[in-house]
Amino acid sequence: MSAQLHELIATFASFGATSDGGVCRLTGSAEDAAARNLLGLEIGRRRLRLHVDPIGNMFGIADLAPHTRETVLVGSHLDSQPTGGRFDGSYGVLAGLLAVEAVMSRAAARQIRPKCNLALVNWTNEEGARFQPSLTGSSVFAGNLALDDALALADGNGVGLGQALDAIGHRGVSPPAIDPVRYVELHVEQGARLEQSGDEIGAVTAAWAACKLSLIFQGQPSHTGPMPMASRRDALRAAARAIELHYRLIEASATGAHASAARITSFPNSPNVTPSRVQVWFEFRHEVEATAVQLAENFLIEVQAAVRPLGVSMEIATDERRGTALLDPEGVALTLSVARDLGYSAIEMKTVAGHDALALQKRVPASLIFVPSRDGLSHNAAEFTEAAALDKGLAVLTETLWRLVTR
Ligand SMILES: [Zn+2]
Repeated sequence: MSAQLHELIATFASFGATSDGGVCRLTGSAEDAAARNLLGLEIGRRRLRLHVDPIGNMFGIADLAPHTRETVLVGSHLDSQPTGGRFDGSYGVLAGLLAVEAVMSRAAARQIRPKCNLALVNWTNEEGARFQPSLTGSSVFAGNLALDDALALADGNGVGLGQALDAIGHRGVSPPAIDPVRYVELHVEQGARLEQSGDEIGAVTAAWAACKLSLIFQGQPSHTGPMPMASRRDALRAAARAIELHYRLIEASATGAHASAARITSFPNSPNVTPSRVQVWFEFRHEVEATAVQLAENFLIEVQAAVRPLGVSMEIATDERRGTALLDPEGVALTLSVARDLGYSAIEMKTVAGHDALALQKRVPASLIFVPSRDGLSHNAAEFTEAAALDKGLAVLTETLWRLVTR
């Protein structure tokens, strides 16, 4: 099973492979389509039932218990960041595929009839790289985001998510006819906690809170040469001031919060026009929700005052508040006991990064299982997890699913 896992990871890494060994597989791209199409074939080869829902989530359903619609879901995502690695998301989908297959074989070999069904899922646009917000497919499935709103999300070129899914033939017509009862996701940690503690498995108890703001700075276009300096209303200069202010506030707070200003668009983006409209995407993350919110609120107050002297106005384009989600405690206990029974060392931990499991938890009890990431590096071509560590995660996932469908 483990040789198959490594082969599958290598094969899927070829879709959108970058010259530095990483992966760029944005939602709805040709690379995403190629990965999705192969996943569809792999699902069919294992005699799972392929179903694509209206937001493009792909399901591979194992009808283990035909008398009920109750289904345990397992999955992650195949989309990546532009500078993605080969494990983020793909590992959870491909390990999920093999774990479902292993549970089916085990049930057949032991002539045990499972009490509910199993379904593998590839969630659409987890990364939020091409379309924001992230966790799109899982949020629609969980009922936290309206389907029409999700389909209408536009990328940087104005292409809608619905349109992009249509273009690659991955926009389905109906939700799958299942009653989800649980969700389990296996993922690389993307942080350094497990590496530091030397443990093999992380049972995630909760997520950090995140406030994601995007602000539009509105100035006035003018010639960059003759226009007198005092009369310029430069939106990019205002954005620069806001970005610096945002980092200064985070440092001064000494709260241990994480923050970033990682995306910017500038209009008209000509070297000879003072920028008149600039949008910047800011993030504040903290373990304590109130702290993340307070930092974001303080920033919003101070940034207004900071850019006003430049003759630039500011408006809030998006303001997404993601609370500290608690994952199902029973799921945490199950992960810990499975890991212990298999002889692996496991700890409880929190996730700083967002994951589909956090969206799913709003509909069904969800578990998130981590394996170590080397140097805590991810969203980077050099993202790496040892083969043996990947195998341990797969073993924990398989045993977890087995206990969930047979207990
Ligand atoms: Zn991921």
